[in-house]
Amino acid sequence: MQIANNVVALIEYTLTDDKGEVIDSSVGGEPLAYLHGAGNIIPGLEDALEGKTVGAAFKVSIAPADGYGEKNEGLLQVVPKSMFQGVDQIEAGMQFHAQTDHGMQVITVAKVDGDNITVDGNHPLAGQTLHFDVKVVEVRAASQEELDHGHVHGVGGHHH
Ligand code: ZN
Repeated sequence: MQIANNVVALIEYTLTDDKGEVIDSSVGGEPLAYLHGAGNIIPGLEDALEGKTVGAAFKVSIAPADGYGEKNEGLLQVVPKSMFQGVDQIEAGMQFHAQTDHGMQVITVAKVDGDNITVDGNHPLAGQTLHFDVKVVEVRAASQEELDHGHVHGVGGHHH
């Protein structure tokens, strides 16, 4: 079976940045399960997996436009320190989950200047070229329930 729309694929992957540093990896843990064509994973990786079968192993480099997008300077904003109640020490690089107009997002502290905290609402991987080393470990038809939900259930997917 080939990976195509409405097919579930389980993949093992290691993601590295331009310097070869590992950002994320599923090796040694559960594979990542996704529903092809449902936008579960970034477009560049979905494109690279199209048509692949079990056992396929390959490397692909994905530009920001097909990954998490370019960095948007408009998503940087300065907020008062009082917004971070309950946090003893605020330092650049810290990440928080915040409820925004676009749902739950990760914001990163970009700069601390006294009571003025610059936060960055860009995805942590925005603006980065992503290098994936991928192996396809399973390809199967999606269940009707998975198609209805737009994501995979069970191993590597949602448990609910
Ligand atoms: Zn579900």
